[in-house]
Amino acid sequence: MPDPQPARPRSAATVAVTAGRPPRRPDQPLNVPMTPASTYAAGGDLEYGRYANPGWSAFEEALGALEGGRAVAFSSGMAAVTAALSLAPAGGTVVAPQHAYAGTLALLGDLRSRTGLTLRTVDVTDATAVLDACRGADLLWLENPTNPALEVCDVAALAARAHEVLPLVVVDNTFATPILARPLALGADVVVHSATKYLAGHSDALLGAVVTDEDRAAELVAHRSRTGAVPGTLEAFLALRGIRTLHLRVERAQANAAALAERLVAHPAVERVRYPGFGAIVSIEVRGGADAAEALCRAVALWVFATSLGGVESTLERRRRWPAEAPTIAPGLVRLSVGIEDVEDLWDDLAAALRRATD
Ligand SMILES: *Cc1c(COP(=O)(O)O)cnc(C)c1O
Repeated sequence: MPDPQPARPRSAATVAVTAGRPPRRPDQPLNVPMTPASTYAAGGDLEYGRYANPGWSAFEEALGALEGGRAVAFSSGMAAVTAALSLAPAGGTVVAPQHAYAGTLALLGDLRSRTGLTLRTVDVTDATAVLDACRGADLLWLENPTNPALEVCDVAALAARAHEVLPLVVVDNTFATPILARPLALGADVVVHSATKYLAGHSDALLGAVVTDEDRAAELVAHRSRTGAVPGTLEAFLALRGIRTLHLRVERAQANAAALAERLVAHPAVERVRYPGFGAIVSIEVRGGADAAEALCRAVALWVFATSLGGVESTLERRRRWPAEAPTIAPGLVRLSVGIEDVEDLWDDLAAALRRATD
């Protein structure tokens, strides 16, 4: 029996739980099973494992419903970033945040030296500078907030003004997730995700996705089939499993992050706290610079010293330990990815580690 038409659009919490399910028929499982297949019997819609997989489609249906567009899954966030950038003309001009994700900046730098792409990096908190850079450009890339400086921009205002001078506005929505922001509804043309982070949410899968309109999605599917940047069936399954609890995890992690940010502001070992007021990433600058920041990362017991973010477990790292990180990021900046543990346990461990690191 078809679902009755809901009187109003269902909320993200309900969509996260219900989208991307198999049809309701006797003896059908409630979840789309994993399909480890390199090929399919000919004559249908799937044909070959590099073109299609029922598990990708289920994940794409759920993410597309949450973001309000058509999703295409990729093997990683960086594969999704690469695919989104392929929508700009070869040798075109891209405007990007000076503090965009380091991997995205590294890829843009590589494209610049190999393909003649022009890259203009900007401070996204300076709307005038962003719009000046957009003149004559082909694509505006945004992250809101940026990683790891956590700078915030007005996506709706920037997208509207940028569209007066260029055709494509892309938002990497990895940090905010569709629970906290839906960039397509704010006027962006394309949304990019590292599903490795909050969407999958358990630090056990690499996956990426691009969400956009039907026409661009068809181009992206062709790009995926050509380049072979295809997800594994296990990864797509795990990411869809993650989406089922996305709203709960984001809500809890955000509440934890807000509480910790407030206490960190008052902590004598912390020089600066960056918290944009939403989401679950907090960046701190530790008194004592890089050495103290490294010591903090090694002094924690409950928190995990690890790169990446968006898992159920709280992790932290000094970002400048990566040579690709922007030199304008302070050497003592530690990025905290706040998880869903008990906030008092998180605070006790962090406060004790700060004490030991800065003694
Ligand atoms: C991690 C990350 C990426 C890259 O994703 P992978 O899944 O690691 O390839 C892209 N953008 C942002 C904002 C990220 O945090």
